[in-house]
Amino acid sequence: MYHDDLHHAAELAHAAVTSMTRFSIPPTPINFTIWYEYHAGRDPALSRAIDGLLAGNAPFTPETTLQLYEEFLNPARLLRASRETTEKLQEAMDDLRSVVGAAEENARSYGAKLEHFSGNLDRHEPEPALGSLVSGMLQETRAMEERNRTLEDRLAETTAEVKLLREHFEQARREALSDSLTGLANRKNFEQTLTLLAKAAQDEHEPLALMLIDIDHFKLFNDRHGHQTGDTVLQLVARTLSDNVKGQDLAARYGGEEFALLLPRTRAEQAVKLGDNIRVLVSGRKLVKRNSGEDLGRITISAGVAQYRAGEPLSTFVQRADTALYAAKRKGRNIVVAAAEAPADAPAA
Ligand code: GH3
Ligand code: MG
Ligand code: MG
Repeated sequence: MYHDDLHHAAELAHAAVTSMTRFSIPPTPINFTIWYEYHAGRDPALSRAIDGLLAGNAPFTPETTLQLYEEFLNPARLLRASRETTEKLQEAMDDLRSVVGAAEENARSYGAKLEHFSGNLDRHEPEPALGSLVSGMLQETRAMEERNRTLEDRLAETTAEVKLLREHFEQARREALSDSLTGLANRKNFEQTLTLLAKAAQDEHEPLALMLIDIDHFKLFNDRHGHQTGDTVLQLVARTLSDNVKGQDLAARYGGEEFALLLPRTRAEQAVKLGDNIRVLVSGRKLVKRNSGEDLGRITISAGVAQYRAGEPLSTFVQRADTALYAAKRKGRNIVVAAAEAPADAPAA
């Protein structure tokens, strides 16, 4: 998830107030929230809705803004939406259960009818009765087929509904775990994965490396070229990271302009090599502004690497990578530094 630092938050607040003034929107808390979120650009659906209104020169009446708030930002509504989805799923499951119940009942009553017919046959009724028995069975069989068809249709409908709901859930889950600007795993995803991978590393006696990566002098870049151009640089770095990891590795956006790589079955030395490759790739990219072709120079990254020590608290593990990153900054940036090895165990007293 995206952490608004003070400077960035102030920029967003300023942009929000500017927009409200420009469109003569009263600066109420709700309006402020809408425009702050619009400039933060975290919810593509909200941005699309506002861009649509702007493109159509639609006036921002109190009703329009209230609608935007209700649809995209009201926490109570978002909660309600998730409750509704759960209820729909419950209904679909109930429906499914009743279809299965009806099918069972259908089969039971058909079986009972057949038993009844065969009972009549056993009693050696006179011959003419045989014809009516057969036609009775035929009729019953057709009725059974008809009932089954209806049930099949209902089953197909319910199954389709359940599939759709599952897709909604999946999408919501994916969105909750990824960073909207870069598409990488978000901080929450990182924390969860770190817990799982550290446990696996400990259980399997395999190494686990963590790399924290921070863009150098990024504040300066933003100040020179604007926040939006800065955002495209964040996307570029994110892509370089995801292009250079594989399998079980996790690339995450750790904070504003900080990223993290979790590298299972990787020793610190191997992680440093990977970090160095990524560092060279990033610093080798000539940045050019898309629309104007303006030369934006180059950016560099610094990184700190730590290898998990079985049993150490995860906060210590992260702290060690962070200290290594800090050392990289002090060494002059554009460098990858590994955390110091554990000191040799003190001799027993
Ligand atoms: P250092 O080399 O020491 O890391 O310097 P720095 O300027 O990169 O570090 P500092 O922590 O002073 O500034 C981080 C900057 O990152 C400031 C902030 O505006 C920018 N930033 C954080 N999140 C975002 C974002 O989502 N988009 C953009 N464009 N910039 C961001
Ligand atoms: Mg930073
Ligand atoms: Mg930085």
